[in-house]
Amino acid sequence: MPNILVVAEHFNGQLRKASRSALGAAGALAARTGGQVSGLVVGYRVGGVAEDLAAHGIPVAVVDLPALTHYLSESYAPVVAAAARAAGATWVVGAATAQGKDLLPCVAALMGGVCATDAIAFTGEGQEVLVRRPMWAGNVLADVELRGEIKVVSIRATEFAAAEKAGLPGSVKALPVAVDESAIRTRFIAFAGSGGDRPDLTEARVVISGGRGTNGDFSEIEALADLLNAAIGSSRAAVDAGWAAGDLQVGQTGKVVAPEVYIAAGISGAQQHLAGMKGAKVIIAINTDPEAPIFQVADYGVVGDLFEVLPALRSLVAASQKQGT
Ligand SMILES: Cc1cc2nc3c(=O)[nH]c(=O)nc-3n(C[C@H](O)[C@H](O)[C@H](O)COP(=O)(O)OP(=O)(O)OC[C@H]3O[C@@H](n4cnc5c(N)ncnc54)[C@H](O)[C@@H]3O)c2cc1C
Repeated sequence: MPNILVVAEHFNGQLRKASRSALGAAGALAARTGGQVSGLVVGYRVGGVAEDLAAHGIPVAVVDLPALTHYLSESYAPVVAAAARAAGATWVVGAATAQGKDLLPCVAALMGGVCATDAIAFTGEGQEVLVRRPMWAGNVLADVELRGEIKVVSIRATEFAAAEKAGLPGSVKALPVAVDESAIRTRFIAFAGSGGDRPDLTEARVVISGGRGTNGDFSEIEALADLLNAAIGSSRAAVDAGWAAGDLQVGQTGKVVAPEVYIAAGISGAQQHLAGMKGAKVIIAINTDPEAPIFQVADYGVVGDLFEVLPALRSLVAASQKQGT
């Protein structure tokens, strides 16, 4: 029977939302392969994260060592590979976050396995399960057959529903895996978070993105984001112009987001941008050009100048917040 190991990610002592989606993906995979799902938490003082993961009704192995305080692929990948071997895992699943994109291919290489990144669905049954992944900015979907005993998959968290907690929690067991610190040639120095007090771009409920149409002035976007506790994103044009930081870029070569509401202000809606946000539940586009392609994917569109529309929207939001609606 296939064993599916979910590698959980955590930040500030909390299980990441994307890992709950990875667990949801593992559940979908288990339904197709008839496999069993278990979880893995790697880090230091991560007992709470392991308990949280186990609350989804799966057995969880935890490797808790001071040497794993900060994520480094050099220290984490051998630990995950050892834990996957100990679990007899044939599938290793994690979220395609910045960390997952770094870690999972290393795990596949260490285990002599095969790897598919950015999975958005599984198809087929039993031994014939295929991994569906986007190519060419989502213009092509490939169903990939993973020929290998160990299959490592990173999943796009926006495409899988987060797993729900179960009535009965699973077990949590410490796994005795050592870290060979002498073999680690990279060193964690500092973590520089971006976005200040704003929510993480990939986890925020509301994202407001600005493009070339902002002409470099994000002040109206920031003001509305403050009001809605939203994350700020941008198109690549705004990043290339130096108006927004690179880690705010949404799209094929930026971040993939699926918030409840995505507001695109002064963004034309190029395919490469859509690749990063078309999974949003509600898309609102503000653009002066009625022919802008963004309107084809928008649920609500306003043809107008963002410097007039955003302040008007802010007044409406402020008024409704005042009324408590
Ligand atoms: C390999 C590759 C990867 C790429 N990856 C990405 C990616 O990850 N993310 C990404 O975003 N792009 C990416 N791009 C670039 C992409 O093709 C577009 O060039 C880019 O998305 C355009 O950004 P934009 O919509 O801000 O600018 P534009 O296409 O110039 O659109 C600006 C829009 O603003 C509107 N506008 C102007 N003034 C106002 C105003 N005052 N109020 C309201 N609307 C106004 C205009 O009508 C226009 O529609 C990639 C390209 C390539 C080749």
